[in-house]
Amino acid sequence: VHPPKGKPKWLRVKLPTGKKYTQLRGLVDKYDLNTICTSGSCPNMGECWGEGTATFMILGNICTRSCGFCGVKTGRPESVDWAEPEKVARSIKIMNIKHAVLTSVDRDDLKDMGSIIWAETVKAVRRMNPETTMETLIPDFQGISTHLDRIIKVAPEVISHNMETVKRLTREVRIQAKYERSLEVLDYLKKNGANRTKSGIMLGLGEEEDEVIATMEDLRRAEVDVITIGQYLQPSKKHLPVKQFILPEQFKKYEEIGLEMGFRHVESGALVRSSYKAHKHIH
Ligand code: SF4
Ligand code: SF4
Repeated sequence: VHPPKGKPKWLRVKLPTGKKYTQLRGLVDKYDLNTICTSGSCPNMGECWGEGTATFMILGNICTRSCGFCGVKTGRPESVDWAEPEKVARSIKIMNIKHAVLTSVDRDDLKDMGSIIWAETVKAVRRMNPETTMETLIPDFQGISTHLDRIIKVAPEVISHNMETVKRLTREVRIQAKYERSLEVLDYLKKNGANRTKSGIMLGLGEEEDEVIATMEDLRRAEVDVITIGQYLQPSKKHLPVKQFILPEQFKKYEEIGLEMGFRHVESGALVRSSYKAHKHIH
């Protein structure tokens, strides 16, 4: 346990550097490209971009949900931009991205919950960037199979859906979501032809070790292949407070436990975000 006063040293990161990073940063600014990496000022930009990975957000930047940990704005989202799939595909081309992570806000306001734009985006990216591999980090689509099937059909290399936290804290952390429903989504994806599935949780929200392990076991039962475990950081004072800074040894321990349970990849560390080292998870 580490008292949550000021960031411990392992959470302090250097500003991103490197030739590839500088070059991409210039392109993102010039073409006004929408990456989560820049809008969320992710600490891993130097590393991810250096490896040709970036995360793109689709379906706008206003969410119909209001998770207590998330920095995305809640409200009435804008109307769907049907040109978005092409725009994202073009961004990926301009940035010469080798592995793209796509994610979206939740669009509970739309009849298809955004699943059509999702599928069209995967197709457009593939058309314009046949060499680029993809991870789709999808919402739960309220567990509706028609929407999930659209994603499975376009066959991204990895389909991910984040649990975000342990069972007991789900109500507090993701008010409109359900722990069991998210598990069912992952299970459904795998049973219905997803190439590879992945999920992520954040620590430091007040969960106990046995609860983390129970979540990992639930994910293995749903045959999830990859898990990411990172430290929760409060996006603003209005968001849920950090209850604890998890020690590096504890992250290591979860990594070992996860590998023993049979996950193919376990990314566990304070700065791990769900798309961190994502390019590795296709293998
Ligand atoms: Fe971008 Fe994700 Fe890497 Fe952060 S961890 S830089 S959001 S790809
Ligand atoms: Fe943020 Fe996703 Fe929750 Fe929307 S559903 S508030 S984007 S975590």
